[in-house]
Amino acid sequence: MTDVTRYGLFVGGEFVPAHSGATFPVHNPHNDEVFAQVAEAREADVEDAIAAARAAFEGPWGALTPKERGKLLLRLARLIEDQGELIARLEAKNSGHPIRDVRRFDLVRTVDWFEYFAGMTTKIQGDVIPSSFKGVLNYTLREPLGVVAQIVPWNFPLMFVAWNIAPALAAGNTVILKPAEYTPLSALEIARLTKEAGFPPGAVNVVPGKGSVAGAALARHPGVDKICFTGSVEVGQQIMREAATNLKRPLLELGGKGPNIIFDDADLDAAVQGSLFAAFHNQGQACIAGSRILLHESVWDEFLDAFLPRIRSLRIGDPLDEKTQMGPLTSKDHQKRVLEYVDIAKGEGAEILYGGRRPDTPETSRGYYVLPTLVRAEDPAMRICQEEVFGPFITVTPFAKEDEAVAIANGVPYGLGAGLWTQNLRRAHGLAAQLRAGMVWINSYKLVDPASPFGGMKMSGMGREMGFETIREYTQVKSVWVGYDFEPWRWPE
Ligand code: NAD
Repeated sequence: MTDVTRYGLFVGGEFVPAHSGATFPVHNPHNDEVFAQVAEAREADVEDAIAAARAAFEGPWGALTPKERGKLLLRLARLIEDQGELIARLEAKNSGHPIRDVRRFDLVRTVDWFEYFAGMTTKIQGDVIPSSFKGVLNYTLREPLGVVAQIVPWNFPLMFVAWNIAPALAAGNTVILKPAEYTPLSALEIARLTKEAGFPPGAVNVVPGKGSVAGAALARHPGVDKICFTGSVEVGQQIMREAATNLKRPLLELGGKGPNIIFDDADLDAAVQGSLFAAFHNQGQACIAGSRILLHESVWDEFLDAFLPRIRSLRIGDPLDEKTQMGPLTSKDHQKRVLEYVDIAKGEGAEILYGGRRPDTPETSRGYYVLPTLVRAEDPAMRICQEEVFGPFITVTPFAKEDEAVAIANGVPYGLGAGLWTQNLRRAHGLAAQLRAGMVWINSYKLVDPASPFGGMKMSGMGREMGFETIREYTQVKSVWVGYDFEPWRWPE
């Protein structure tokens, strides 16, 4: 029998039960056991969180200087680092993400993000505009928006807390974060640490609950000034419609179907290594996964002869085992969805080169596991080449010419990440310009940095996270005119 830990909502600086008293279970995807019960926010709880965030914005949080905000964010980074192992283990247990990867990526990035944006607080400045009027000074102020709501998915629950709340807070806003139903725990742990760091009550609020209830209430509420959403295209579209009620500016980070193009002049060892990670890191549950390998026909056999054994040898099992390279998918529903794409692939006449089923080891029998799956798909118009699977399921498609590769790469509704492997400089930079994607990785994949803009083109979203681009998202510009030696305009006599 597993111990079940209970969590409240985090509203106004305290853990509180939901008004309705409702809670929901959190499962361990490795063995399907319930190990936590979390208070479920509904409309009344969302109202409380918005009121607390507004009071903090107009009160103690709004009164802080940029330097003071930065110090709080730095203190939070230190606390996360100090309690890193506890947080990493909780994240691995809740999401299925292997512990070694949580430590070296998610945890490190979470700390990096808070540090980077802590430093940003004192660099958010306006401009002095060269005025065309004599005796007039015109300058701009870059001001926070107010109360920001942030709705995040389940694939990188810890990291998304940092990606969302760090820049919003750095810019001077207060936040309400709604984690995904499957993975609310790391957000609640970070909330706990904001209290320990000394954030004023209400600056950070976390309201776990259903998307259709708590999420929708945030999206339509006139007391929310901005809505940031990371998730599926359908829900993103819904959020945008709801946001229209009070013209909240949406920031949407949606799906992807990343092309990963391997040319005949690529360093194939590097391409094999990089493509494996691009495809199967976090069980492929990544919006920027390299889920479509486009492989030059002349290196088809050579690449696959090296790639397939690497896929077969990936160590799959308990995410808390130090040796595990791939854990379970985060939910049972998602496991079902990914396996449905195997049937779709077979129905479309694609060839399963490896995987396409659950592993058959005793260790994985109760969990939401799916083997890493590689599918040969000749026709880029197939559903499996067009639709985001968001799991350990990738396609490989041959091409002969550069133009053809670009057309296939761009021939999907998405435009988030794209990769290419080549040693030809003309080709590398030429294609970087032609690919319709928010991020292009050359001889690398999935690099992210708090300083580098991140976001999608086409149906992959709007707006950018990271760097100063994200500070633009979380601020608005005010133009101030000072007539220091200016005769006010009047009508001619
Ligand atoms: P989802 O859209 O179902 O859910 C995402 C979040 O939205 C969850 O917190 C959910 O509770 C909430 N939600 C659901 N319905 C809602 C509604 N009507 N109103 C308000 N909120 C609602 O997506 P998911 O299945 O959790 O996540 C997978 C998707 O997220 C994939 O498409 C993936 O590509 C995308 N994603 C994008 C990025 C990016 O940065 N572009 C990053 C990670 C994941």
